[in-house]
Amino acid sequence: MAGPRLELPVLQNWSCHNCGGCCRQHLIEVTEEERQRILKQNWTAQDGVHQPVMQWHSGPPWRKRYRLSHTADGGCVFLDEKGLCRIHAKFGEAAKPLPCRVYPFAFHPSGKSFAVSLRFSCPSVVANKGMSVTQRTSELRRMAEEVIPRGAEKSPPPLLTRTDRVDWPDLLPFVEALDHTFADPTSPFIIKLHRAIIWTTLVGQSSFEKLRGPRIRELIGLLMEAARVEIPRIPEKIDEPSRLGRLYFRTLVAQYARKDTVADLSTGPWGRWRLFRAILKFTKGAGDVPPLQSGFKPVPFASLETPFGSLDAQSEEILTRYFRVKIQGLHFFGSAYYDVPFAEGFHSLALMLPVTLWLARWLAVGEGRNHLTVDDVSKGLAIADHHHGYSPALAQYAARNRVRWLAESNDLSRLCLWYSR
Ligand code: SF4
Repeated sequence: MAGPRLELPVLQNWSCHNCGGCCRQHLIEVTEEERQRILKQNWTAQDGVHQPVMQWHSGPPWRKRYRLSHTADGGCVFLDEKGLCRIHAKFGEAAKPLPCRVYPFAFHPSGKSFAVSLRFSCPSVVANKGMSVTQRTSELRRMAEEVIPRGAEKSPPPLLTRTDRVDWPDLLPFVEALDHTFADPTSPFIIKLHRAIIWTTLVGQSSFEKLRGPRIRELIGLLMEAARVEIPRIPEKIDEPSRLGRLYFRTLVAQYARKDTVADLSTGPWGRWRLFRAILKFTKGAGDVPPLQSGFKPVPFASLETPFGSLDAQSEEILTRYFRVKIQGLHFFGSAYYDVPFAEGFHSLALMLPVTLWLARWLAVGEGRNHLTVDDVSKGLAIADHHHGYSPALAQYAARNRVRWLAESNDLSRLCLWYSR
């Protein structure tokens, strides 16, 4: 079958298990064609569908943009009691808006082909439940033809560093080397991550103006070896992150912990005011953590800083798979991630470890525990990944600058180690 050439994440399985989570978390904008199609479906209260089924959510009156409505409990108007989509049930999958059909997949230019990644905001992706992604090749090709704009295979490569860009054949070895770092079966996850932070930081500080071809591969090999020598094992003494590092970290975590859907806290003027006050509390880091979405309970900030013990094998597998899917899927830099360069994008991805573990600790302490279960880590990851690369707040200069500062000051590695203990 012809169509875009796809690179699939071989280690990932997925099938939808109808939890209805995406139908509650995402606000779906529809095209004019989709709007007309849904209007012609003639939905009424007898079908269990509230009116209006779509709402004008942005744009001037002469160019209105519509999204699917949500009910007061937060679900999409088409979500039924069994967690199924009414449009899908009555008219088939093809009748649904495109974003609903594509989720949780994402397609990113990768030279002459397209890398396929998945969003871990879907619990079935986190749990690796269902059919192997490679068995979905024909379905993904059809989807890619609809999603990928014409000419996208000619997209220029993203920046490698803040100043240098190399062609795709010289950029992709960096991505392969990162994947190779995480594929090492003999080292704990935290060691692999620590090494990857070290060698990508060196990449970010290097000049590639005159380096091309085999010399790039040679340099990558040298940097990876230097990181292996520098970090042979988990350090016996784990240093605390600096005060400023913790402050920056908490303000970033607050952005990952928020929820911007209809039934949650941060929409509308009152919601935005509550979010602002909550973020101020995160900045102070004293007293109780303000719950930013329904699953979290108020717990003392200090209770999240004590040792929780090392991660179990299942949590390590989830985190390794998460990093490898995001790396193989080019879901961490360039057009997939606020157009940031390779090294900076990887540092943002690395930050997902302390963010996930901080959120997992918050869930655990809320349940009266000071150790993590796989369920805590899975939920923490699903909450954090919902925003990673999709939240406008994380694209802003202040957020980008904080991630850069954490990487340059070495607090990024300290935070990863601190919350893994
Ligand atoms: S979040 Fe995942 S499993 Fe749940 S309904 Fe959406 S696609 Fe299906």
